[in-house]
Amino acid sequence: MRLSQSLFVTLREEPAEAEIPSHKLLVRAGYIRRIGRGIYAYLPLMWRVLQKVSQIVREEMNATGAQETLLPQLQPADIWQESGRWDTYTKAEGIMFSLRDRLDGELGLGPTHEEVITTIAKDMIRSYRQLPQHLYQIQTKFRDEIRPRFGLMRGREFIMKDGYSFHASEECLKKTYADMDQAYRNMLRRCGLQFRAVEADSGAIGGSGSQEFMILADAGEDEILYTEDEKYAANTEKAASLPADPVESPFTIFEKRETPGTATIESLCNSLDCSPTCVVKNVLYQVVYDNGKTVLALVSIRGDQDVNEVKLQNELTKVAPNYGGNTIISLTVPDAEAQQKWAAKPLPLGYISPNLGNDYLQTNKDIAPEFLRLVDQTAVSLKNFVTGADETDYHVLGANWGTEFQLPQLQVDIRLAKAGDRAVHDPSQVLQTARGIEAGHIFQLGTKYSEAMGATFTDENGKEQPLVMGCYGVGVSRLAQAAVEQSYDDNGIIWPVAIAPYHAVVVVPNIKDAEQMAAAEKLYTELNAAGVETILDDRNERAGVKFKDTELIGIPFRVVTGKSLKDGKVEVVKRKEGDRLDLALEDVVSTLKAWVDTATQ
Ligand code: ATP
Ligand code: MG
Repeated sequence: MRLSQSLFVTLREEPAEAEIPSHKLLVRAGYIRRIGRGIYAYLPLMWRVLQKVSQIVREEMNATGAQETLLPQLQPADIWQESGRWDTYTKAEGIMFSLRDRLDGELGLGPTHEEVITTIAKDMIRSYRQLPQHLYQIQTKFRDEIRPRFGLMRGREFIMKDGYSFHASEECLKKTYADMDQAYRNMLRRCGLQFRAVEADSGAIGGSGSQEFMILADAGEDEILYTEDEKYAANTEKAASLPADPVESPFTIFEKRETPGTATIESLCNSLDCSPTCVVKNVLYQVVYDNGKTVLALVSIRGDQDVNEVKLQNELTKVAPNYGGNTIISLTVPDAEAQQKWAAKPLPLGYISPNLGNDYLQTNKDIAPEFLRLVDQTAVSLKNFVTGADETDYHVLGANWGTEFQLPQLQVDIRLAKAGDRAVHDPSQVLQTARGIEAGHIFQLGTKYSEAMGATFTDENGKEQPLVMGCYGVGVSRLAQAAVEQSYDDNGIIWPVAIAPYHAVVVVPNIKDAEQMAAAEKLYTELNAAGVETILDDRNERAGVKFKDTELIGIPFRVVTGKSLKDGKVEVVKRKEGDRLDLALEDVVSTLKAWVDTATQ
């Protein structure tokens, strides 16, 4: 590519729309342009990066025996109705764009493809002899994200590799899942990225495993907890840890005590001079299920602990059938306005006990008549605890389950693990924290979709069984931007060689100098012929401008046909290390070729 003939526009100013370095740099360097909310054009340089990432992904997928395919993005509503996701995806969560065609048929734009692939499997897979199967595609996905942001990191249109596997047994699924784990590690390593594979939340289906692949970067939206011994790493949403040991309660006799102005744990503990581990705090959550039913969940947890809302959501989804629902539409800590919708009288907020009376709830068919009471494991074993008295400015001290309070039937693990907690596998290890960008997610789905959609096969004994499924996603466009978030400096992007749009740029400081031009043209042709993908910066610009631009766009190797030409040499600069050296003209191609080969192995 000759820059003089390319649509190549760099910006000196930081774009106002961008918050994080990678987004600013990709806009400034002319890789992407915003067209609308969460909608970006991938300009020629970006498209090359995306194709390189896709190619690495493709090679690693093919190496596992997976077959590339391309599925429709326009998806008829009926297959989503079959799986039971249409209403949640188009209305409740609203993540799926939907539309009507000229025949008034309802369609959605694919946010993911479980329904399409399961429809195909249902039609084509009959016998265990056809199993296992694994199909994948690299394609644009559409998601009406609530908060699209950070450029390609969270777009409403983005590129994903999604793969789906079908098996006759869980055991076979586990094997493919392990292959994917390895393939994903290979992809990220080959893209030149620092990452961590972490245990991930797999929602309420439970039982089945799920792992995320996190690119480490401070701007990451996810928090990772890990141990230094490398034996444990998990997304905070999923992480487990050992809570601190509780302090023995000093209140051995039950009493109700006036504790004015102690609605927070801190003020209560200051006033009573006790540890928060002696307190049972009670938190109210408002749950709305997909059938419109509102349930008030009262969660009791030890005073020093916080609730992990993802874990809570999973527990609440498990009990959805008790309320005639399937999924949760919203889970919130109700504010004063929300309380008006279901509270029969003002709540003693900050002083609630685990026994809070059901008479606080309005009688209304859309509202469950009783609180759903849950207790976290940290609160189950407490003795002589302090908790609310269901009366503003009063607490009870020295309380016990089984005497003053009934232990809730739902005893669950919903505490939030935090950095500094002791690890479960080895209490001498302390959880550390890091931030990451989720680039990939692999998931053992089991029979959720095949059962819902009737995708079965006949097993060796002639018995009909639901197909066992796995699904595996990589955010191709997110990964490409994450690479920049992990690698840049004050002057611009520093692409890993394997996914850089070009390996090298030949800069002609002065295009009016015929000798410089001739040497540059020759190098440009020979480098490209040798497989070193090279740009020629032959623009009629000052040398300084060209150097700045090549630094900004992050091309790994720069060759300058400048002053040293008279000695038969050119200056070569490595973008990452900043090393400069003079190379004899005849050594340039072989040297750069060797550098590229080493970096892309
Ligand atoms: P997130 O939690 O970040 O919203 P997700 O868990 O919904 O992502 P998956 O359904 O697991 O995403 O999709 C697979 C991969 O696609 C993700 O690991 C991520 O890399 C990428 N991805 C998901 N949503 C977006 C988006 N809005 N923009 C860009 N990439 C995305
Ligand atoms: Mg995910």
